[in-house]
Formats: sequence, C-alpha cells, structure tokens
Amino acid sequence: MTEGKYIIALDQGTTSSRAVLFDTSGELLGIEQKEFTQIFPQAGWVEHDPEEIWETQLDVLKKLVRDHVADPKEIAAIGITNQRETTVVWDKNTGKPVYNAIVWQDTRTSNRQCRTLRKAGLEPYIRENTGLIIDSYFSGTKIMWILENVDGARGKADNGDLLFGTIDTWLVWKLTEGKVHATDYSNASRTLLFNIKTLQWDDHLLEGLAIPRNMLPEAKPSAADFGEFSYRNTRIPITGIAGDQQAALFGQQCFSPGMVKNTYGTGCFMLMNIGKTMRLSENNLLTTIGVGLADDISYAIEGSIFNAGAAVQWLRDGLKIIKSAPESKKLAEETKGNDEIFVVPAFAGLGAPYWDENARGAIFGLTRDTSYKHIVKATLESMAYQTKDVIIAIEKDAGKELLTLKVDGGAVANDYLMQFQADILQVPVERPEIIESTAQGAAYLAGIGCGLWKKEDLEKFRKLNAVFEPEMPAERAEKLYSRWKKAVERTMNWIDEDEAED
Ligand code: ADP
Repeated sequence: MTEGKYIIALDQGTTSSRAVLFDTSGELLGIEQKEFTQIFPQAGWVEHDPEEIWETQLDVLKKLVRDHVADPKEIAAIGITNQRETTVVWDKNTGKPVYNAIVWQDTRTSNRQCRTLRKAGLEPYIRENTGLIIDSYFSGTKIMWILENVDGARGKADNGDLLFGTIDTWLVWKLTEGKVHATDYSNASRTLLFNIKTLQWDDHLLEGLAIPRNMLPEAKPSAADFGEFSYRNTRIPITGIAGDQQAALFGQQCFSPGMVKNTYGTGCFMLMNIGKTMRLSENNLLTTIGVGLADDISYAIEGSIFNAGAAVQWLRDGLKIIKSAPESKKLAEETKGNDEIFVVPAFAGLGAPYWDENARGAIFGLTRDTSYKHIVKATLESMAYQTKDVIIAIEKDAGKELLTLKVDGGAVANDYLMQFQADILQVPVERPEIIESTAQGAAYLAGIGCGLWKKEDLEKFRKLNAVFEPEMPAERAEKLYSRWKKAVERTMNWIDEDEAED
C-alpha cells in the first residue's frame, strides 16, 4: 500500500500529449495538454516524430507536477494510455528512432505489405488468433515497411539492434531511461503479432511478417510493474498501461459482459466487453483484449471508425470554415432550410463495419441553399451516423439491443452532436462528468497496480454529467439513416483496385 496522494495519467493521444492528475478518491485535479506536429509526407501517409512525442509528454508531466504537487513523493504511481497501433522502431544502442512513428491512420502498407500477407494465406490464421483482420491500421505491416524501406534496418534488426514499440512502450523506455522494454496485453493485441488466446507473441506470425522476436517488448497485464521514472530525487513507479480505447472502457467501468462505450476523438471507437472467453465477431468487428488484469482478462469486440473528430479538424484546418472545434455546435444550430446534407468522411477509406480501403470522402444532397454551416452540421452528424453503423453490428453480435450509450472523448463536449446521437439511435446517451475516460482508465489501472485501489472501489467514483434523451420522431430518424446508408454506399470502391496496386 502506498502513502501517495495522487495518481498521474499520461494520455498520449493522436493529436496531443496530456498529463492528468487524480487524487485518491478519483477526482480530476488538473490537466496539461500540448499538441504536436502531424506529418503528412504523401497522400495516405501520417507520421509523428517520436522525439517530439516524448518531449511534449515530458513537458506536460513536469508542468502538471510543478503546478499542482508540492513534493513528487506524493505521487503514488504513473499510468500510461496511448494512441494504439502507432509504430516506433529504434536502435537500442543509440536510443534513436530509425524512422518517424508510423501512425495508426497511415495506409501506406495497404497494398504491398497487406497483399503479401493475404497472398501467403494468413488471413484466417490472423482472424482466429489475433481477432484482427489484415489491414494497414495495425502495427505489424508498419514494422514490415520500416524493415523493408529504411536503409540498414533489416540488417540491424537481424543483428538484434532494433526495438519495436507502440507508443506506451516507447514512453516507458524513455521514462525508465532504457531500462524497461515492455507493453501491456491491450496494446500488444493491436499489433497483428500477438496471440490473444495464449497471451504470447505468435511465432507463426512473426515468421510470416519476417519480424525478429527480439525486437518485441515483454507483454504484461495492464496493471503491473513497468519500472520507475526518476524525477527530482524521487522514483515514481509506473504501474498501469492500456491502449486508449481499452483504457476508456475501463474508465467508463464497463466491467460486465454486454457493457458498451463509445469514444469520440480523432476516430470513434466503440468497445463492448464480451467477458472472459475470446469470441470472433460475425459482423465485421474486431476482437481484442479489453483490459487484462493479472487474474482477470476480459475480451472486447470493437468497431473502429477512422475519421470522427478528424473531420472536424478538417473543417478547421483544411476547409477553414470554423475557427475552433467548439464553434461547430453554434454553426450547426444556426442552419436553416435543407436539412439533408450528408458528409461521408472516408478520407482514407472506411473502417468498421465496411472495411473498404478504397472508399473516399464525399458530400451528398447539395442544393442551391446549402451553406458552409450545413456542411459543418453534416460533418458533426457523420460521427453519429457512423456510430449507428457500428452499433447495429455490435447489437447483432450481442444478440440484444443497446439500452443506453456511454460516451466520452473530446468531441462529446458538443451538445449538438450528443443530442443528434441520441436522436438517431433513439436511445439515451450518457455523458460522464469526467469525459477524459481514457486518462481515468489509465489512472485506475495505475492505482490498482500500486495497491491503492481494487476494482470494486472504483464504482463510487463514477458521476454522470448529462443524459441526452431522444427527441426526434423515430420515423424521421429512420429516414435520415437510410439516406446516410445510401451516401456511404456511393463512396465505396471509389479507388479502382488496379489504381490501388500502384
Ligand atoms: P485524441 O485523443 O484522438 O487526440 P480527443 O479525445 O482529444 O482526441 O478529441 C479531440 C478530437 O475531438 C479532435 O479531432 C477535435 O476535432 C474533436 N473535438 C474537440 N472538441 C470538439 C467539439 N466541441 N465539437 C466537435 N468536435 C470536437
């Protein structure tokens, strides 16, 4: 049992690094956040600089401690949660990355590397043993790309000089000054290399992808000893890690089978706890490790939507028709006239439940009175429609209808979106007081890992901020949704297969 007063969660997201301070009764006391550079070297490629990720993460951690904590000894533990799948490969002798981090959204491997795996007949094995599908989204083909394309990487890897990590692993390695090379089961389960039945790296897949086993971190339960961070003469233990979506599932306390949460960040990710037995989705969803405590592994079915809040960023940075994300609410509420504009933000293909890498975005239903405000509104609504697409698949897998939806993530601050979500689903949408469920989950794991809390203690921490009840007539919701389906269909297979082969 620790004497510390605080837990710090490091929340390394796709667009920003955050550090969040919680006290021992689960109250959120402070947040620091810093955006970092998004690198787009070519169409479909997305990279981050791993050093910048580390620097921004360390900066926000230090600032949080400086502003809120009198003595670092008061920090009982650190938990980490992170953008998943994003891949870093570094030289263990110099500590330098051999290439930028290849981000989960990056589709560069969809042709060559993914096709190689399909041709090798690995698809059924991957599905059965990792719960995933062959897609550029996951880390495995990104590692392949680095080994195939970065000068000298293959030789160094074969020599045992290179290490691979998802972002949690990279941060742990940096925080512990190179002493610990580890990950947790939830992050491991997104690599395409981890057997989620045996909880081991899978030799058959490592061979299939030509990735040396010694590049891989040790995979551990999500609440465990991940080493220590030395700061101002204090050694602070790192005792919790989970990928962002699994951390949110834990933060939202979806501990029983059938419980579902949806996180609205850069992408939208819906996860349903399916209990202790690994089961494959029959409706184009993924199976993944939920949160793996040492004696309590639970599996989850997941629907991943690639572009949600990212489409709002596109309104801001690409189209420049909003100045800030929150402004989108006001503009959506100001629209008049044509109410049936549909934005399908398939910027880099579509994720669940469509899985079409060759889809591209489009706007439908334009009329002469369509204004930029309608496009803003339709972009917000696209998050709600995509969520409904995934809920329908999840309900089929669960064999029952969802009664409420628990939400979290940056974009749920938008009341227009939340109301529209309740309307289109025709079920209540529950927004918790702390919408940083991701950080909350990492803090809970760290608290459990350092002996401060037990899972049962967490229930009293959950507080609701708002419940959005459906107001739209069901018929109207149905009509809008069927239009949406039509719009999605028209964006699919936009890129011809032979074009995609180039
Ligand atoms: P991530 O962890 O993926 O970086 P966050 O949970 O921080 O994402 O959410 C940020 C995303 O949410 C951004 O893509 C942003 O465009 C979107 N967002 C933030 N606030 C709002 C808002 N008020 N309305 C709509 N979208 C928002």
